[in-house]
Amino acid sequence: MLYFYLPLILFIILAIVYYFFIAYLYLPLLFLIILAFIYYFCIWSRTQIFGYFPDSVKTQEKVIALTFDDGPNPPDTERLLEILKKHQVLVTFFTPAKNLEKFPELAKRIIAEGHIIANHSYYHQFIYNFINFSFRKEIIKSQKVIENIIGRRPALYRPPWLFKQPFLLKTLKAQGLTPVSGWFSSNWEIWKAPAEVIAQDALKVVAPGRIIIFHDGFDTKGGQRAGSIHAVDLIIPELKKQGYRFLTVDKLLGVPAYQKT
Ligand SMILES: [Zn+2]
Repeated sequence: MLYFYLPLILFIILAIVYYFFIAYLYLPLLFLIILAFIYYFCIWSRTQIFGYFPDSVKTQEKVIALTFDDGPNPPDTERLLEILKKHQVLVTFFTPAKNLEKFPELAKRIIAEGHIIANHSYYHQFIYNFINFSFRKEIIKSQKVIENIIGRRPALYRPPWLFKQPFLLKTLKAQGLTPVSGWFSSNWEIWKAPAEVIAQDALKVVAPGRIIIFHDGFDTKGGQRAGSIHAVDLIIPELKKQGYRFLTVDKLLGVPAYQKT
Protein backbone atom coordinates (compact mmCIF):
# COMPACT_ATOMS: atom_id res chain seq x y z
CA MET A 1 0.00 0.00 0.00
CA LEU A 2 2.90 2.34 0.84
CA TYR A 3 4.23 1.70 -2.68
CA PHE A 4 0.92 2.92 -4.05
CA TYR A 5 1.23 6.33 -2.35
CA LEU A 6 5.01 6.63 -2.57
CA PRO A 7 5.23 8.97 -5.59
CA LEU A 8 2.69 11.35 -4.02
CA ILE A 9 4.42 11.33 -0.61
CA LEU A 10 7.81 11.96 -2.27
CA PHE A 11 6.48 14.91 -4.22
CA ILE A 12 4.89 16.46 -1.12
CA ILE A 13 8.12 16.06 0.89
CA LEU A 14 10.08 17.61 -1.98
CA ALA A 15 7.59 20.43 -2.19
CA ILE A 16 7.84 21.15 1.57
CA VAL A 17 11.66 21.07 1.49
CA TYR A 18 11.63 23.38 -1.50
CA TYR A 19 9.20 25.75 0.21
CA PHE A 20 11.01 26.08 3.54
CA PHE A 21 14.61 25.92 2.46
CA ILE A 22 14.82 27.25 -1.06
CA ALA A 23 11.96 29.34 -2.30
CA TYR A 24 10.00 30.64 0.68
CA LEU A 25 7.21 31.57 -1.66
CA TYR A 26 3.68 30.23 -1.96
CA LEU A 27 3.62 30.03 -5.71
CA PRO A 28 6.35 27.42 -6.30
CA LEU A 29 4.89 25.27 -3.54
CA LEU A 30 1.48 25.40 -5.11
CA PHE A 31 2.99 24.64 -8.50
CA LEU A 32 4.80 21.57 -7.17
CA ILE A 33 1.69 20.28 -5.40
CA ILE A 34 -0.31 20.65 -8.61
CA LEU A 35 2.43 18.79 -10.51
CA ALA A 36 2.35 16.04 -7.88
CA PHE A 37 -1.39 15.64 -8.25
CA ILE A 38 -1.23 15.60 -12.07
CA TYR A 39 1.47 12.94 -11.90
CA TYR A 40 -0.33 10.84 -9.31
CA PHE A 41 -3.81 10.96 -10.80
CA CYS A 42 -3.08 11.18 -14.52
CA ILE A 43 0.30 9.59 -15.26
CA TRP A 44 1.27 7.01 -12.65
CA SER A 45 0.75 3.65 -14.34
CA ARG A 46 -1.35 2.10 -11.56
CA THR A 47 -3.87 4.88 -10.92
CA GLN A 48 -7.41 3.57 -11.45
CA ILE A 49 -9.23 6.54 -9.98
CA PHE A 50 -10.85 7.70 -13.24
CA GLY A 51 -12.01 4.23 -14.29
CA TYR A 52 -10.85 0.89 -15.68
CA PHE A 53 -7.24 1.15 -16.83
CA PRO A 54 -5.82 -2.33 -16.27
CA ASP A 55 -2.15 -3.03 -15.59
CA SER A 56 -2.77 -6.71 -14.72
CA VAL A 57 -5.42 -9.35 -14.05
CA LYS A 58 -5.91 -11.12 -10.75
CA THR A 59 -4.73 -14.69 -11.17
CA GLN A 60 -2.54 -17.30 -9.49
CA GLU A 61 -1.65 -18.70 -12.90
CA LYS A 62 1.83 -17.91 -14.21
CA VAL A 63 0.75 -15.89 -17.24
CA ILE A 64 2.03 -12.47 -18.36
CA ALA A 65 1.75 -10.21 -21.40
CA LEU A 66 4.85 -8.61 -22.91
CA THR A 67 4.13 -5.28 -24.60
CA PHE A 68 6.32 -3.04 -26.79
CA ASP A 69 5.69 0.68 -27.22
CA ASP A 70 6.66 3.31 -29.80
CA GLY A 71 7.60 1.03 -32.73
CA PRO A 72 7.82 -0.22 -35.35
CA ASN A 73 11.43 0.92 -35.47
CA PRO A 74 13.81 -0.96 -37.74
CA PRO A 75 16.19 -2.66 -37.30
CA ASP A 76 15.32 -3.16 -33.58
CA THR A 77 11.75 -4.29 -34.22
CA GLU A 78 12.98 -6.74 -36.87
CA ARG A 79 15.53 -8.18 -34.45
CA LEU A 80 12.84 -8.41 -31.78
CA LEU A 81 10.57 -10.35 -34.17
CA GLU A 82 13.40 -12.85 -34.79
CA ILE A 83 13.88 -13.31 -31.03
CA LEU A 84 10.15 -13.77 -30.42
CA LYS A 85 9.96 -16.32 -33.26
CA LYS A 86 12.93 -18.22 -31.82
CA HIS A 87 11.22 -18.45 -28.40
CA GLN A 88 7.72 -18.91 -29.90
CA VAL A 89 6.25 -16.03 -27.91
CA LEU A 90 3.45 -13.73 -29.09
CA VAL A 91 3.33 -10.12 -27.83
CA THR A 92 1.37 -6.88 -28.20
CA PHE A 93 2.81 -3.84 -30.00
CA PHE A 94 1.45 -0.41 -29.02
CA THR A 95 2.36 1.60 -32.10
CA PRO A 96 1.91 5.31 -32.88
CA ALA A 97 0.03 5.27 -36.21
CA LYS A 98 2.61 7.68 -37.69
CA ASN A 99 5.25 4.95 -37.33
CA LEU A 100 3.03 2.43 -39.14
CA GLU A 101 2.77 4.90 -42.04
CA LYS A 102 6.57 5.00 -42.17
CA PHE A 103 7.01 1.22 -42.00
CA PRO A 104 3.86 -0.45 -43.38
CA GLU A 105 5.70 -3.63 -44.45
CA LEU A 106 7.05 -4.15 -40.96
CA ALA A 107 3.54 -3.63 -39.57
CA LYS A 108 2.22 -6.33 -41.90
CA ARG A 109 5.02 -8.66 -40.84
CA ILE A 110 4.09 -8.16 -37.15
CA ILE A 111 0.52 -9.24 -37.94
CA ALA A 112 1.61 -12.12 -40.22
CA GLU A 113 3.75 -13.53 -37.40
CA GLY A 114 0.76 -13.65 -35.05
CA HIS A 115 1.40 -10.62 -32.82
CA ILE A 116 -1.16 -7.95 -31.96
CA ILE A 117 -1.01 -4.31 -33.05
CA ALA A 118 -2.73 -1.86 -30.70
CA ASN A 119 -3.25 1.89 -30.91
CA HIS A 120 -0.73 4.20 -29.19
CA SER A 121 -2.01 7.54 -30.63
CA TYR A 122 -0.99 9.10 -33.95
CA TYR A 123 1.62 11.75 -33.09
CA HIS A 124 2.65 10.54 -29.62
CA GLN A 125 2.47 14.17 -28.43
CA PHE A 126 1.73 14.79 -24.75
CA ILE A 127 -0.20 18.00 -25.38
CA TYR A 128 -2.99 16.30 -27.41
CA ASN A 129 -3.98 14.32 -24.32
CA PHE A 130 -5.02 17.39 -22.36
CA ILE A 131 -7.70 18.67 -24.69
CA ASN A 132 -10.53 16.26 -25.35
CA PHE A 133 -11.29 17.70 -28.77
CA SER A 134 -7.78 17.13 -30.13
CA PHE A 135 -7.55 13.77 -28.36
CA ARG A 136 -10.76 12.54 -29.99
CA LYS A 137 -9.63 13.75 -33.42
CA GLU A 138 -6.33 11.96 -33.04
CA ILE A 139 -7.98 8.69 -31.97
CA ILE A 140 -10.27 8.68 -35.00
CA LYS A 141 -7.36 9.52 -37.35
CA SER A 142 -5.03 6.88 -35.90
CA GLN A 143 -7.72 4.16 -35.99
CA LYS A 144 -8.29 4.86 -39.71
CA VAL A 145 -4.56 4.88 -40.53
CA ILE A 146 -3.95 1.60 -38.70
CA GLU A 147 -6.96 -0.07 -40.33
CA ASN A 148 -5.77 1.01 -43.80
CA ILE A 149 -2.35 -0.52 -43.22
CA ILE A 150 -3.07 -3.78 -41.39
CA GLY A 151 -6.69 -4.33 -42.43
CA ARG A 152 -7.96 -4.44 -38.83
CA ARG A 153 -9.24 -1.75 -36.48
CA PRO A 154 -7.62 -2.00 -33.01
CA ALA A 155 -9.72 -2.41 -29.86
CA LEU A 156 -6.82 -1.78 -27.44
CA TYR A 157 -5.34 1.63 -26.66
CA ARG A 158 -2.42 2.78 -24.54
CA PRO A 159 -2.07 6.56 -24.17
CA PRO A 160 1.44 8.06 -24.54
CA TRP A 161 3.00 8.41 -21.05
CA LEU A 162 0.01 6.40 -19.78
CA PHE A 163 -1.76 9.74 -19.40
CA LYS A 164 -5.39 9.44 -18.40
CA GLN A 165 -8.21 11.73 -17.32
CA PRO A 166 -11.99 11.15 -17.12
CA PHE A 167 -12.87 12.67 -20.52
CA LEU A 168 -10.14 10.70 -22.23
CA LEU A 169 -11.35 7.39 -20.80
CA LYS A 170 -14.94 8.28 -21.78
CA THR A 171 -13.82 9.00 -25.35
CA LEU A 172 -11.98 5.67 -25.53
CA LYS A 173 -15.12 3.86 -24.38
CA ALA A 174 -17.23 5.66 -26.98
CA GLN A 175 -14.73 4.61 -29.67
CA GLY A 176 -14.85 0.97 -28.55
CA LEU A 177 -11.28 1.00 -27.22
CA THR A 178 -10.05 -0.72 -24.03
CA PRO A 179 -7.37 1.35 -22.26
CA VAL A 180 -4.27 -0.64 -21.31
CA SER A 181 -1.68 0.33 -18.69
CA GLY A 182 1.14 -1.93 -17.47
CA TRP A 183 4.21 -2.33 -15.29
CA PHE A 184 7.47 -0.81 -16.52
CA SER A 185 10.00 -3.61 -17.07
CA SER A 186 12.66 -1.39 -15.50
CA ASN A 187 12.79 2.25 -14.43
CA TRP A 188 15.91 2.58 -16.56
CA GLU A 189 14.60 0.84 -19.68
CA ILE A 190 13.31 4.03 -21.26
CA TRP A 191 16.78 5.64 -20.78
CA LYS A 192 18.52 2.90 -22.81
CA ALA A 193 19.97 0.96 -19.87
CA PRO A 194 22.22 -2.05 -20.63
CA ALA A 195 20.36 -5.29 -21.38
CA GLU A 196 21.54 -6.99 -18.16
CA VAL A 197 20.12 -4.17 -15.99
CA ILE A 198 16.78 -4.22 -17.79
CA ALA A 199 16.59 -8.03 -17.63
CA GLN A 200 17.42 -8.11 -13.92
CA ASP A 201 14.77 -5.48 -13.09
CA ALA A 202 12.17 -7.08 -15.36
CA LEU A 203 12.54 -10.45 -13.65
CA LYS A 204 11.70 -8.73 -10.34
CA VAL A 205 8.71 -6.91 -11.82
CA VAL A 206 7.14 -10.05 -13.33
CA ALA A 207 4.30 -11.59 -11.31
CA PRO A 208 1.25 -13.67 -12.33
CA GLY A 209 -1.21 -11.69 -14.46
CA ARG A 210 0.93 -8.62 -15.11
CA ILE A 211 1.29 -6.61 -18.31
CA ILE A 212 4.96 -5.68 -18.78
CA ILE A 213 6.08 -2.59 -20.74
CA PHE A 214 9.16 -2.48 -22.97
CA HIS A 215 10.06 -0.09 -25.80
CA ASP A 216 11.19 -0.97 -29.32
CA GLY A 217 11.15 2.70 -30.40
CA PHE A 218 11.27 6.33 -29.19
CA ASP A 219 8.01 8.25 -29.72
CA THR A 220 7.94 8.67 -33.48
CA LYS A 221 11.64 9.49 -33.69
CA GLY A 222 13.37 6.14 -34.30
CA GLY A 223 16.62 5.53 -32.40
CA GLN A 224 18.23 2.38 -31.09
CA ARG A 225 16.73 0.01 -28.52
CA ALA A 226 19.32 -2.79 -28.61
CA GLY A 227 19.36 -3.05 -24.78
CA SER A 228 15.62 -3.63 -24.49
CA ILE A 229 15.60 -6.16 -27.32
CA HIS A 230 18.53 -8.14 -25.89
CA ALA A 231 16.92 -8.06 -22.42
CA VAL A 232 13.85 -9.79 -23.86
CA ASP A 233 16.08 -12.52 -25.28
CA LEU A 234 17.55 -13.00 -21.78
CA ILE A 235 14.34 -13.06 -19.73
CA ILE A 236 12.10 -15.30 -21.85
CA PRO A 237 14.07 -18.54 -21.28
CA GLU A 238 14.40 -17.70 -17.56
CA LEU A 239 10.66 -17.04 -17.17
CA LYS A 240 9.82 -20.21 -19.11
CA LYS A 241 12.01 -22.11 -16.66
CA GLN A 242 9.96 -20.58 -13.82
CA GLY A 243 6.79 -21.89 -15.50
CA TYR A 244 5.51 -18.67 -17.10
CA ARG A 245 3.38 -18.58 -20.24
CA PHE A 246 3.13 -15.53 -22.49
CA LEU A 247 -0.23 -14.19 -23.69
CA THR A 248 -1.13 -11.21 -25.84
CA VAL A 249 -2.93 -8.43 -23.91
CA ASP A 250 -6.38 -9.25 -25.34
CA LYS A 251 -6.10 -12.89 -24.24
CA LEU A 252 -4.82 -11.91 -20.79
CA LEU A 253 -7.63 -9.38 -20.21
CA GLY A 254 -10.30 -11.46 -21.99
CA VAL A 255 -11.24 -8.64 -24.39
CA PRO A 256 -11.10 -8.40 -28.22
CA ALA A 257 -7.88 -7.21 -29.88
CA TYR A 258 -9.72 -5.76 -32.88
CA GLN A 259 -13.10 -4.21 -33.45
CA LYS A 260 -15.75 -5.86 -35.63
CA THR A 261 -15.95 -4.04 -38.95
ZN1 LIG B 1 4.87 5.64 -25.96
